[in-house]
Amino acid sequence: MNDAIFTLRHVGMIKELAATERYGHADLDTVTDVLGEHGRFMQEVFGPTNVIGDREGLKWSPEGVTTPDAFKVAYSKFVEAGWQGLNAEVEYGGAGFPEAVFTCALEFMTAANGALTMAPGLTTGAIECLQEWGSEEQKERYLRRIVTGEWTGTMNLTEPQAGSDVGLCTTKAEPVGDGTYKITGTKIYISFGEHDMADNIVHLVLARTPGAPAGTKGISLFIVPKFLLDDAGEPGERNDVRCVSIEHKMGIHGSPTCVMSYGDDGGAIGFLVGEECQGLRAMFTMMNSARIAVGIQGVALGDAAFQKALVYSQERLQGRKLGGDSYAPAAIIEHPDVRRMLLFMKSHIEAMRALLVYNSAATDMARCTEGEESERWQEIADLLTPVSKAWCTDVGMEVTSTAIQVFGGMGYVEESGVAQHFRDARIAPIYEGTNGIQAMDLVGRKLGMRMGGAVGDHLQRMRDLDAELEAAGPEFASMREQLAAGVVVLNDTTNWLMTNGLSNPVEALAGATPYMRIFGLVTGGWLMARQALGAKADLATADQADAGWLNAKISTARFFLEQMVPQAAGLTASVTAGSSVLYDVDATTLASV
Ligand SMILES: Cc1cc2nc3c(=O)[nH]c(=O)nc-3n(C[C@H](O)[C@H](O)[C@H](O)COP(=O)(O)OP(=O)(O)OC[C@H]3O[C@@H](n4cnc5c(N)ncnc54)[C@H](O)[C@@H]3O)c2cc1C
Repeated sequence: MNDAIFTLRHVGMIKELAATERYGHADLDTVTDVLGEHGRFMQEVFGPTNVIGDREGLKWSPEGVTTPDAFKVAYSKFVEAGWQGLNAEVEYGGAGFPEAVFTCALEFMTAANGALTMAPGLTTGAIECLQEWGSEEQKERYLRRIVTGEWTGTMNLTEPQAGSDVGLCTTKAEPVGDGTYKITGTKIYISFGEHDMADNIVHLVLARTPGAPAGTKGISLFIVPKFLLDDAGEPGERNDVRCVSIEHKMGIHGSPTCVMSYGDDGGAIGFLVGEECQGLRAMFTMMNSARIAVGIQGVALGDAAFQKALVYSQERLQGRKLGGDSYAPAAIIEHPDVRRMLLFMKSHIEAMRALLVYNSAATDMARCTEGEESERWQEIADLLTPVSKAWCTDVGMEVTSTAIQVFGGMGYVEESGVAQHFRDARIAPIYEGTNGIQAMDLVGRKLGMRMGGAVGDHLQRMRDLDAELEAAGPEFASMREQLAAGVVVLNDTTNWLMTNGLSNPVEALAGATPYMRIFGLVTGGWLMARQALGAKADLATADQADAGWLNAKISTARFFLEQMVPQAAGLTASVTAGSSVLYDVDATTLASV
């Protein structure tokens, strides 16, 4: 909680946002109260259901999917408390808080129960999509009930032959003649595609209308409710959509991953969102929101695992404290290697949190400014979204894995609870566009934004911190030096990709994943340095208790900049090597050992 508020103040621009008309109600005191209450709710209501969901799992029958009783109780309290609408527009019943605040709230929720949070998480994406693309009628009939949480939303892209390549979608949408469409086809891996926690499920489904062009240009988006609405807008007749099975997975056991069959009895009734063949644009609104939500899974599950590892490291006695004269066993936190693991986790968690909050705040700023200023903020949000998704989920997995390492053998035993966090975190680099696809998006689309101007400005903003770091004195000298070196690495690899990618995209894409890591490390380092400066400023007025916390903040930033950011330089060769070595060994030879 402390760190969320601190991050909102120092990188989340909460003061600037509260000064705008749109977010005038989101002043720091109000946000602190709201997040405090939200965190307490999640800890008390969602938290106790986490292990239950993991152990009990879900039951499928032809009638539907049964979630654990504890989920139904927790979800109904969530709806009653009105948390679903936290960042939804006031006009449709939401509380209208900034995305940056919602990012902090979603982290609390996910840390409490990541699997259950997938229902409200995807519902938030559906809200954002309908707010932007839905007709007034759709907003009145569906959006309002989704904002309350009474109905949940889903995202239906994936099909057996259309995973990363959404353009291969074959689900059909035939116009009925009365403005509706009959949807037929199979969608797979649909999270919370079916469950018993809400009165209706509003599926947002990608499908192809007759004669539509091949590929992504021919895809449209439809609302397909589980229950069709009667004249009074209440759920009535069952639509022709069913969950025909659920997957058995290594993690997120409480989140039903559904195979959805549309139109087994003649066609599910669907309602077009926006215009025909513009579906992917609309779905991107939902996907961008979901990409941030998945990035949050990295930091939230990482932090949940870190908290457990930290407690264990203080209790577990093994080995002697080096340099002391006592033969009594010491708590493992005294050993340098355990300290290193703890700081690896803590510093990455703070860097990831800062990136996600900054990315979300950029979206907020784009929404409440105009003209070129708004465009520039939107560029920042667009540039950083693949990094927030991919870097935070790759690192989230490493952090949960490191937490297991701190526990030793007990970490591998389910009882410790960290094993679940590791299993749950493993999916995040895969869904919402694999991290490989995110790296391609960063290199292939985002670097070219405004002919390289967007990434150029990002690099310049990082350079601009140099004067402040210099003025902050000797304590900040190493941070200053390492940030400057990291920015050079990011600048050089960016230039290499932009130069070589133009002549041969394969060359650039071969290095996209290591480049993504460099981008995350250096941007994370910049945000940590900004936070260290913020902590120094806060120290001037802090009492003793806060001073300890703020000094730890500075030391953690120093660790990240001194020990993590320099790793970026080591990845340069992987980015600039090009593709030839990857193809020197052909597919048949790869198989020989
Ligand atoms: C638990 C779970 C929940 C999910 N929830 C949803 C949901 O709610 N809604 C939904 O629509 N989908 C959902 N998905 C689907 C998920 O988004 C896809 O699994 C994901 O996009 C990858 O598609 P795929 O599994 O077909 O893998 P593939 O596309 O077959 O990819 C396999 C590998 O090849 C790589 N690859 C593929 N194409 C390229 C390329 N052009 N260049 C470089 N590398 C490439 C990938 O990075 C990956 O490593 C979920 C999946 C799971 C497992």
